[in-house]
Amino acid sequence: MAASPTTRSSSPPSSPLDVDVGRLPTVGAESVKLLERLGIRTLGELLWHLPTRYLDYSTFRPLRSLVPDEEQSAIAIVGSISQRRTARGQMLTEVQLLDEEGQPTRVTAAWFGRQFIKERMREGQRVRVSGKVGFFGRSLQFRQPKVEPADAEAVHTGRMVPVYRLTEGLKEGNLRRWLHTIVEGGPRRTALIQEVADPLPAEIRERRTLLALPDAIREVHFPSGDPELFAARRRLAFDELLILQLALGQRRARWTKDAHARPLRATGDDLDAWIAELPFTLTESQLRSLGEIRADLDLGIPMSRLLQGDVGSGKTVVAALAARIAAGSRAQTALMAPTELLAEQHFRTLDRLFEGGGPTRALLTSSVHAAERRRVLEGLASGTIDIAVGTHALVEENVQFRALALAIVDEQHRFGVAQRAAFREKGIDPHLLLTTATPIPQTLWQTVYRDLDISTIDELPSGRQAIRTEVRTSSALPKIWEWVRERVAAGEQVFVVCPRIDAKDDGEGVDVPSAVAVESELREGPLKGLRLALLHGRMPAKERDETMGRFARGEIDVLVATTVVEVGIDVANATVMIVLGAERFGLAQLHQLRGRVGRGEKRSFAVLVSEAAGESERLAAMTEQKEGKPLDGFELARRDLAIRGPGEFLGQRQHGLPELRVVDLSDVDPLLLHETAQEADRILLADAELRAPEHRGLAVEVEKLWRRTALA
Ligand code: ADP
Ligand code: MG
Repeated sequence: MAASPTTRSSSPPSSPLDVDVGRLPTVGAESVKLLERLGIRTLGELLWHLPTRYLDYSTFRPLRSLVPDEEQSAIAIVGSISQRRTARGQMLTEVQLLDEEGQPTRVTAAWFGRQFIKERMREGQRVRVSGKVGFFGRSLQFRQPKVEPADAEAVHTGRMVPVYRLTEGLKEGNLRRWLHTIVEGGPRRTALIQEVADPLPAEIRERRTLLALPDAIREVHFPSGDPELFAARRRLAFDELLILQLALGQRRARWTKDAHARPLRATGDDLDAWIAELPFTLTESQLRSLGEIRADLDLGIPMSRLLQGDVGSGKTVVAALAARIAAGSRAQTALMAPTELLAEQHFRTLDRLFEGGGPTRALLTSSVHAAERRRVLEGLASGTIDIAVGTHALVEENVQFRALALAIVDEQHRFGVAQRAAFREKGIDPHLLLTTATPIPQTLWQTVYRDLDISTIDELPSGRQAIRTEVRTSSALPKIWEWVRERVAAGEQVFVVCPRIDAKDDGEGVDVPSAVAVESELREGPLKGLRLALLHGRMPAKERDETMGRFARGEIDVLVATTVVEVGIDVANATVMIVLGAERFGLAQLHQLRGRVGRGEKRSFAVLVSEAAGESERLAAMTEQKEGKPLDGFELARRDLAIRGPGEFLGQRQHGLPELRVVDLSDVDPLLLHETAQEADRILLADAELRAPEHRGLAVEVEKLWRRTALA
């Protein structure tokens, strides 16, 4: 959904908060420009510029009891004021502070470079002083403190004081003062904050004992105390989560409303027989996930399910059985992978799983020759082919299916969601199964993936060997290359992954390994004589697929690559993964990379090379053991989310995460999540389109959320 064009000047403001910040008496033209840099144009936008933290100046200490190195507040009487230039030519203003009885103390306050500060105070005045205290000789001194007359309202001193994100030239004191005016009002005016419309129905506010929105915003800017701040943040977080839940819930409801999927059924006997035909026994989690998928397929409404499981946990088998259920109901399946090579791999996997029998299948990629292509297209149109395997081009090009009823999207789940819209436009509503090897921590999926049901494979097939992982600095590289030669001599293959493609054209320092440079160095030096190849994202897709194909066939010994080898590729003979500049990768990414080896019977290794070895939390997590086993993808994902934050973790744009003001997606309060989910369900059940008058405010907020994000 596109943002509506700006009509600020032509449409009259509907609320006093919609007027320009310049209308605030003390905001001059220069400040208007500075605020605009922070994305603030109206008073309402200013109000939503929330503090990033607070200085706790709320407890007063007698001057005699001040302690050094702490932020503190005191009531004092201004004694003598002196100003002089320091040896360096800076103006130093120094004030003797008297105690409340007017008796001298050994405490002073000092400011550098602020000539005007003198005019702010007069001797004998009672003031509040807040700031950091340090030693000055044997006496104590407030350094650059904030000072306000004791009878004036507390804005900068003697309270919890908000700290805001600034831009160069914008003074914190000014910003705080403006916000204080909006929030608390002037001496003769009611506060503008009362104009904030509260979107939450009163009934919910009461049931969940939430603050009114204006009160919450006021308390967030200028907290009366810790409990009030907590209550205020809870209220704002509640709104944010509720709106998110409503948005996703609504989308989910729209997907299922008026949608008629074809029920795909298999008898228990058939399914048991198909499972028995597999070359191995399914794990408990595979069976459970299959059960969940089967139950969904049985319904007349389209499935929207994400199948998540660690690298190598066997998602493809489960997806293949779903396709087999579809075929059993005379319906077709499209299995889509991110690259042609992965599509080919899936195609071969299906061959192995069905051992020559099973549903009829066809591969449709750009390298399929014209005659074969025509045959496949005819087969899909007439319905003689049950499963089409390919890239997304499979459904994007005008491939005609006779009865497409199941779409499986591998490794690109947000893309899969977008795909649903594309299908619906063509008048088909297939069941949608998305798979991902990047496990999504529980609270995160309950928050931003609520439009999907989730099945989880949380165990690896038995007999899998743990990949031995070591962290080394680059001083170990000569030994590592020697060892690589031994592995190759033993007939095994090696990945070397670099954080970037080429040293020449990105602003990074020369010490960050690049695939191009490393490959040529190794070729001429330590790995001379071995069969090396280069793989990176700037190579044409065709060439990339070709190189990967040669590696898969064992025609290359050492593949020097960027993270393009990350997802899904399965080369049983590759036993060594060397990651250079390892500190530059996220944990989930390192785990994915490591999952490229250990796919076969042979003992496999990962070597993470980094100058930060020993310091990096992430690298340590890669070698950590729990009950004698390395941490699994779920545990690593949780840590990664905590270390890097949700944006980096999921990739802000790709996954269309909304920008949240209060809620930290890596640390969502499960109770609040539960409460908002309940309320969202209750609301949507009664009023799916949010048309009731008491839901208007919520509808507006949901609309704004869609506009702010790529979730749509
Ligand atoms: P991923 O979840 O990474 O897509 P795959 O489905 O590609 O994993 O499975 C990885 C490998 O494990 C494949 O070679 C597959 O045949 C094999 N596999 C899958 N499930 C089992 C199982 N239950 N027992 C033994 N091997 C299995
Ligand atoms: Mg896979």
